[in-house]
Amino acid sequence: MTASEIRALFAVASRPEVVSLAGGAPYIAALPLDAVGEMLGRLGSEHGSTTLQYGIGQGTIELREKICEVMALSGIDVGCGASPDDVVVTIGGQQAIDLVARLFLDPGDVVLAEGPTYVGALGVFQAAQAQVEHVAMDADGLIPAALEATIAAVRASGRRMKFLYTIPTYQNPAGVTMSEERREQVLDICEREGLLVVEDDPYGQLGFDGDAPRPLRARRRDGVFYLSTFSKTFAPGLRVGWILAPHAVRDKLVIATEATILCPSAFAQAAVTQYLTTMPWREQLKVYREVYRERRDALLDSLDDLMPVGTTWTRPSGGLFVWATLPDGLDSKAMVPRAIAARVAYVPGTGFYADGTGQRYMRLNFSFPSPERIREGVRRLSGVMEQELAT
Ligand code: PMP
Repeated sequence: MTASEIRALFAVASRPEVVSLAGGAPYIAALPLDAVGEMLGRLGSEHGSTTLQYGIGQGTIELREKICEVMALSGIDVGCGASPDDVVVTIGGQQAIDLVARLFLDPGDVVLAEGPTYVGALGVFQAAQAQVEHVAMDADGLIPAALEATIAAVRASGRRMKFLYTIPTYQNPAGVTMSEERREQVLDICEREGLLVVEDDPYGQLGFDGDAPRPLRARRRDGVFYLSTFSKTFAPGLRVGWILAPHAVRDKLVIATEATILCPSAFAQAAVTQYLTTMPWREQLKVYREVYRERRDALLDSLDDLMPVGTTWTRPSGGLFVWATLPDGLDSKAMVPRAIAARVAYVPGTGFYADGTGQRYMRLNFSFPSPERIREGVRRLSGVMEQELAT
């Protein structure tokens, strides 16, 4: 295992004088914190005999039923075989990725993933001693022809592939969404090639410009693992996520999770269940979407106004991130110390590729800083870039 350069960067980026476009934190202040606090207090005082006790590995049935209600919002419902029985509650979306890796990956196996992809997933695959092969994306997400070519190349090299790990909706870090047409094509290719699909969908409920295309799992029940989390729609501090697994492997996932964590936190599960039962969570989703839409607009407008010629970037319709491509000659990783000195932080593209390439890119977050801070951050960043270009 190697240290994540992003974790090290966050320590510096969290200094108050630094405008951090580096994080991925939701804007928790948008929650009704007093009401949430009271609810949490009662969970201890009135229900402590269960909320402070051990629970079962798969997670409580109450929460798994609520999770099915949440998934139904995006079309993953009983009609496509979604059932509380096949849900496994995890410690955030991160443990969901880890569980799938534990179940399927042997050292040397190949995982296909978008290039760039989620840094935390790269960490899991690296710990499993798997090799990641990136598949190119464009503004419509993963490119089916590139997927076919990568599969052929891996097969030709004699290596074994287990699954495609994909974040089709409001991708982290690229901010792009796989089109309707491509969703069908990608599913067809994976089915034909005998590859499982691991669909990671933390951001699907956070669309600003209308609804996202239906998840892959809503289109195909076989061979698709659906992973999500309450980290972006409620609170990451509770660390509650889940997997909807194909029925045949659900038992194996439960065994794997029990061997890792015994059971997810009873308190955190009760907190999420109470939140979904007694509080206006659909309204809260609207609040998050409104806040993030305003911040996304602030970031895109600032980039339009201030970025040096030759810089391009994605225009996300949801999620938390914009992915920028730097003008020729700039190296986002080498530039980090100069950016920090200018009191602005971003994540260099190199964190999102298994092979450390990606120097021409950077990830910019818009969920946490205020619109004013975003504009100031982009002003500082463009100043650093102009200076680099002049030398
Ligand atoms: N998958 C993706 C694509 C993510 O962006 C994140 C969080 N940044 C996670 C999984 C992990 O989520 P959690 O915080 O719930 O563990």
